Amino acid sequence: MSQKTIAVVGAGIAGLAASIRLARAGYNVSLFEKNAYTGGKMTVYEQDGYRFDAGPSLFTLPHLVDDLFKLCGMNPRDHFNYIQHETACKYWWQNGKKLVLTAQEEENLRAIAEEFGGEAAASARKYFEDAKEKYELTEPYFLQQSLHRAKTFLNRRVLKVIRAIPRLGLFNTLNEENEKYFNSPELVQLFNRYATYNGSSPYLTPGIMQMINHLEHGLGTYLPKGGMHEIAASLTRLAEKLGVNIQLNSPVEKVHVQGKKCEGLQVKGETLNFDAVVLNADVHYAYEHLINIGVKRPKKTLAQEPSTSALIFYWGIDRSFEQLDLHNIFFSKDYRKEFDQIRSSEDFWLDPTIYVNISSKVEQEDAPEGCENWFVMINVPPNSTQDWKAITLKARKTIVARMSRVLGVDIESHIATERVLDPVMIETYTSSAGGALYGTSSNDRMAAFLRHPNKKLGGYKGLYFCGGSAHPGGGVPLCLLSGKLAANWCIEDLNG
Ligand SMILES: Cc1cc2nc3c(=O)[nH]c(=O)nc-3n(C[C@H](O)[C@H](O)[C@H](O)COP(=O)(O)OP(=O)(O)OC[C@H]3O[C@@H](n4cnc5c(N)ncnc54)[C@H](O)[C@@H]3O)c2cc1C
Repeated sequence: MSQKTIAVVGAGIAGLAASIRLARAGYNVSLFEKNAYTGGKMTVYEQDGYRFDAGPSLFTLPHLVDDLFKLCGMNPRDHFNYIQHETACKYWWQNGKKLVLTAQEEENLRAIAEEFGGEAAASARKYFEDAKEKYELTEPYFLQQSLHRAKTFLNRRVLKVIRAIPRLGLFNTLNEENEKYFNSPELVQLFNRYATYNGSSPYLTPGIMQMINHLEHGLGTYLPKGGMHEIAASLTRLAEKLGVNIQLNSPVEKVHVQGKKCEGLQVKGETLNFDAVVLNADVHYAYEHLINIGVKRPKKTLAQEPSTSALIFYWGIDRSFEQLDLHNIFFSKDYRKEFDQIRSSEDFWLDPTIYVNISSKVEQEDAPEGCENWFVMINVPPNSTQDWKAITLKARKTIVARMSRVLGVDIESHIATERVLDPVMIETYTSSAGGALYGTSSNDRMAAFLRHPNKKLGGYKGLYFCGGSAHPGGGVPLCLLSGKLAANWCIEDLNG
């Protein structure tokens, strides 16, 4: 029997994971990427002696990368390494309050007690416990399996989740859930931040997002040796080793579906036949530009609100700041107003929450000696018709002024080199709708069920979906799982 052929469209983190799994299962895999590099949003810049991870900076669940090497009979440590950084994040409020959180629960409770009092620490203990329970109850079903297959629910253990529904916070927003635990507005704001981990608003996303706290403070945050981009680079090397035919600079122009069967693709004007196609491209873009008319559009899925985008300044700073760590958050004064402004696309640059990531705090070679590489990001709406040039100038002014005030130094005079990434650029480089970072937002209680399934359902054959806009959603760990779910479904179908 001849080897079956599979095309994967897009070499983002999910496309790479799917390609590896399909090649390992014995299929002949071609991976088409429109850019000259793999990794999609997970890319890297070097400028004037500074190295910047341009996309993701926070890495959780590193075992999901290890799993791909193990699946291929390799020791991950020979190919990909990472460290756990002691400090998870440093938080700064404009009223002078500060907090440093780590992956050590007792240490965190001590720090919370010191800044916010013993009662807040007791609430935080309960919060951490409940976040763990929510994570452990739902992760095997909501993340590790498809929500669109009956077999996920034909399982006696699902009953445990169903019984726990009243405790999962599905009927409250994250903000309402957090206000049940904490009186301090600063702590509510801190734990509300988890909504942004998939580009949502804490005032709309369900309280189950509390489980993200367990990812960060229970299971820990990591940094790959060589920087975040090493995740994509090491998976690219693994895919090549397995014989995946990676074709860069190869934008797929069409996905051909005849009747209800996906027959293949058009690339550079040429029609290529495949037994199956896995799309890692954003689903909005795919239905608008790639999948032929006549194929049923998933209207409810496509009507979902996109996740937030970001405006990022990559600054080479010609000195170092002892007060700062790998991850630093400088909160806005009024979080609700900030999210209202993001959703209405108005004035969101006036008092934004500022995230500063400095990988040279850990990887010294990322910046010249005595200097630092700052990745400075604010959440912004996805691109519609905004004037990003004007917004960038205003946002930059606000950020420089605030950072200068907090650090007591004129930051402007220490910016040795600069680069900017805005939503239009993110959209252009990765085809994600409006430059959304995480596909669709979870600003809806049913969002998890409305994400695109990992297979085109409704009797269609041979078309699969992975990546931030497909189940289970955006962010590096979920995209790795998405690649797994799409590949496994495809393998099951091809094996009959
Ligand atoms: C600035 C920024 C910060 C972030 N921070 C974090 C973080 O700290 N932690 C975290 O976990 N996540 C973070 N994310 C989100 C995370 O990067 C993404 O969720 C994840 O990388 C998306 O992977 P993906 O597989 O969906 O594909 P993408 O990265 O979106 O890649 C899709 C690929 O498909 C290609 N493609 C599209 N159309 C075609 C076509 N027609 N033909 C061929 N190729 C095509 C694109 O060129 C691209 O390479 C961040 C993202 C950004 C941009």
